[in-house]
Amino acid sequence: MREYLKFYIDGQWVAPVTPRTAEVINPATEAVSGTISLGSPADVDKAVAAARRAFAAWGEASVKERLDLLEAIQAQYLKRERELGEAVTEEMGAPLSLGTGFHTLLGKGHLQTAIEVLREFPFERKAGTSIVRYEPIGVCGLITPWNWPMNQTCVKIFPALASGCTMILKPPQLAPYSAQILAEIIADAGTPAGVFNMIQGQGSVIGNALSTHPDVDMISFTGSEQVGVQIQKDAADTVKRVGLELGGKSAWIVLDDAAMAGNVAGATAGMMGNSGQTCSAGSRLLVPRARLDEAVKAAADACNAVTVGDPQGDFAMGPVVSKGQFNIIQDYIRKGLDEGAQLIAGGPGRPEGLDKGWYVRPTVFVGTNAMVISREEIFGPVLVVIPYDDIDDAIAIANDSDFGLGGYVSGVDADECRRVARKLRTGAIWINGGFDFHAPFGGYKRSGNGREWGEYGFHEYLEIKAIIG
Ligand code: NAD
Repeated sequence: MREYLKFYIDGQWVAPVTPRTAEVINPATEAVSGTISLGSPADVDKAVAAARRAFAAWGEASVKERLDLLEAIQAQYLKRERELGEAVTEEMGAPLSLGTGFHTLLGKGHLQTAIEVLREFPFERKAGTSIVRYEPIGVCGLITPWNWPMNQTCVKIFPALASGCTMILKPPQLAPYSAQILAEIIADAGTPAGVFNMIQGQGSVIGNALSTHPDVDMISFTGSEQVGVQIQKDAADTVKRVGLELGGKSAWIVLDDAAMAGNVAGATAGMMGNSGQTCSAGSRLLVPRARLDEAVKAAADACNAVTVGDPQGDFAMGPVVSKGQFNIIQDYIRKGLDEGAQLIAGGPGRPEGLDKGWYVRPTVFVGTNAMVISREEIFGPVLVVIPYDDIDDAIAIANDSDFGLGGYVSGVDADECRRVARKLRTGAIWINGGFDFHAPFGGYKRSGNGREWGEYGFHEYLEIKAIIG
């Protein structure tokens, strides 16, 4: 049983101003796995004041001092990597191999990338006859979701630190453990008091106190569209910069020249990873109409091959994060059936033999792009296969979405894959499984306005100053 009752504020582990706790539920067992404290606006005031004091020195720290700190954090991170992964598994249900694998690898990758970018980043450049300086924006509120907890905290904290900002992290209430360990790592690395602060609690309380705080300069938020909109409104009165990384409904286009079965199987299994709880999941699979039968068989076979069970065991998929998320996904599966989508694998309810824990059946429909299951983010292991007539039709279907976060293209002809990628109205397109820590990540349209990862993540936390004459 975990017990994390203290916050990290001004270089100290401190009790909340007003003691209040909440239980954390293990989604694999539905049992209580631990207790955290819930903060109040008074805790936020303390942390913001500490961050403001610390900014005076940290905002002026040399690149060498910032690199030394990031490298000290890296040494601690590597020592506790396994522990971080175990915490991810316990808090949000990812299989242990994924929690201790890709989840923690992403955090480690963002840290290493921040170090690499910081070594080269030109904080002063020339524009015409003027000097352009990139200066840290100041005190930042970092608000993160539960679905890839290490990725989302690390992709904010390390560029913010590298840029010379000070910060208050508000982790997700559903998945608070890995962030608590990460805070210990950052504290143990000798981070100067007040530079990094962490308060657990409810979004409507801590998140709101940060968004409305007059002495917070920017908010970096990753989460749902609904909350993103609310934060932008809350932050408007104090004219804060708000970076939003929101949801998606990304299309995965399999080109006609591609080996259909292998690519469809890969796309299906990939989408089911992390129980489909990935903002950039390729949840609309676009295949040539002439090869629909082949694609449907491959998608059904791949879906039926996804093993579901105890995240501590050897299964491809664990539960989804909570009862609430389970119910949302069940509603969408029912909506898919009601609107006449053809169910080719999975369906409502839990997988056979799993009566406890928030386990969902990996599910594939064949449908149209007009259906609710193709338009709204389900955030679960539910894939919709949509046939297209020709490549222009595929591009039109992919772009016919309120979201614009990601996209995928599978095909043999690299030039054609890139031509299609250029036509897609999304922030990132992955071709044939490409991956790059230095590539920007963020959304068009309702998927948000921020750009994280690599050098692009630094700009979120930097002001631009012109020195003319
Ligand atoms: P959420 O919006 O419910 O919560 C995200 C965070 O915001 C949590 O820490 C929560 O406590 C906090 N919060 C809630 N209400 C708030 C308020 N009024 N003011 C300030 N903060 C508040 O999202 P979630 O359910 O944790 O995450 C799932 C969503 O995140 C999905 O829509 C997913 O697509 C999105 N997401 C986007 C990206 C991306 O990079 N674009 C990455 C991962 C997840």
